[in-house]
Amino acid sequence: MARPIIAIVGRPNVGKSTIFNRVIGERLAIVEDKPGVTRDRLYGIGSWLDREFSVVDTGGIEIEGEDQILRSVRLQAELAIEEADVIIFMVDAKAGVTPADDEVAQMLFRAKKPVVLAVNKVDNLQRQDDIYEFYSLGFGDPIGISGSHGLGIGDLMDVVIGHLPDPLDEEYGEEVIKVAVIGRPNVGKSSLVNAILGEERVIVSDIAGTTRDAIDTPFEKDGQKYVIIDTAGMRKRGKVYETTEKYSVMRAMKAIERADVVLVVINGEEGIIEQDKHIAGYAHEAGKASIFVVNKWDIVEKDDKTMHQFTQKIRDHFLFMTYAPVLFVSAKTTQRLHKLLPVVVNVAEQHAMRVPTHMLNDVVSDAVAINPPPTDKGRRLRINYVTQVAVKPPAIVVFVNDPEIMHFSYERYLDNKIRAAFGFEGTPIRIFTRKKS
Ligand code: GDP
Ligand code: GDP
Repeated sequence: MARPIIAIVGRPNVGKSTIFNRVIGERLAIVEDKPGVTRDRLYGIGSWLDREFSVVDTGGIEIEGEDQILRSVRLQAELAIEEADVIIFMVDAKAGVTPADDEVAQMLFRAKKPVVLAVNKVDNLQRQDDIYEFYSLGFGDPIGISGSHGLGIGDLMDVVIGHLPDPLDEEYGEEVIKVAVIGRPNVGKSSLVNAILGEERVIVSDIAGTTRDAIDTPFEKDGQKYVIIDTAGMRKRGKVYETTEKYSVMRAMKAIERADVVLVVINGEEGIIEQDKHIAGYAHEAGKASIFVVNKWDIVEKDDKTMHQFTQKIRDHFLFMTYAPVLFVSAKTTQRLHKLLPVVVNVAEQHAMRVPTHMLNDVVSDAVAINPPPTDKGRRLRINYVTQVAVKPPAIVVFVNDPEIMHFSYERYLDNKIRAAFGFEGTPIRIFTRKKS
């Protein structure tokens, strides 16, 4: 199920990143525990009242030159208007209404997206009166909050959740593999899509996707149905937007959310940069199957070790995604491109695989016998029972005597053993530890 996207918009210093961190809350801590996951957050996954969503703090998009604050907030607002499902418009009770707030308001007014007005820095009851002047912005009742004191966040989220779209019905049948092609500008995403569609025996169908702002391309090869998922923004943007990392990531988020399999395209000629990690990290956190596609391999100077070295580089940079296969292709010469769709089919199957409980418990019992679970203050972790509770991505619950004693490295160990036994190639696995004695 695709998670909706919430964007936080507002001029610098109103407290956007403070609220962002509050809203993604616990999840952030869990994610950041794991080595290799990047620390400067561009997005987060949060939940409130059983609804899961992605949150983006649009702050930090900066343009140089005169009037740069105004132009920056304008760009942020535009990004949110295009890509978000709900916008949190943040202002500052201490500062009152500023010209930059008016500017953002003008833009958001024209958007056909729900906007929730949050007045931050309402740190105490006295300040509650300061929120009234924000009625003039024209977004109805302002909600007073305090990011630093954690006040009003629940009220804000109640309203925000109320505006989220209903979960979408599955747009395509179970048998259709949904593929998102993501990566930095110029890595060759469009060329790759065209090359796949131009392959022998590929039948492109002309049934357009049903989601209003998506341009999907359904096709069929060797009896297997696929759809390449795209977002409208992808085709119409100019340089400023393209080079703005947040813009690229946010645009990719929606496509990733709707996909089963994500092709993370990397420019073989340029190597890996931070931005590649952010995009891939999102696919990982969203629980999608992934494949690294190293493109432009035709122009890479190489000998018999180059491929191995590049794979190693990918493993070093994407520590958290060692499960993802790596392919080297050229969209231009179509070199090795015929290998891609079979790998897509394979990881899609692994992503949807369900392992019988008795087999899973056999593997975990063996793992425990080889390497006993951790102890804490004389108490040893006892694993009573293991079962897979979900697919896409596979989720496994480990019932133990005391979840506190479970250690991340032991979860890792079990993850490795489970993969060694069953595969799960290309897909993240979620492991949850629960108490049951
Ligand atoms: P951003 O630029 O909009 O992301 O704003 P930040 O989250 O970086 O916050 C800007 C400043 O406002 C920081 O010094 C925060 O500590 C402060 N701040 C954030 N929330 C509150 C709040 O609720 N009350 C007060 N008094 N200060 C806050
Ligand atoms: P996108 O921005 O990721 O969609 O990238 P494009 O598909 O527009 O490609 C960017 C540029 O890279 C274009 O000039 C392409 O012709 C070129 N390109 C794409 N794939 C390859 C490839 O496999 N080999 C070479 N040599 N050039 C490529």
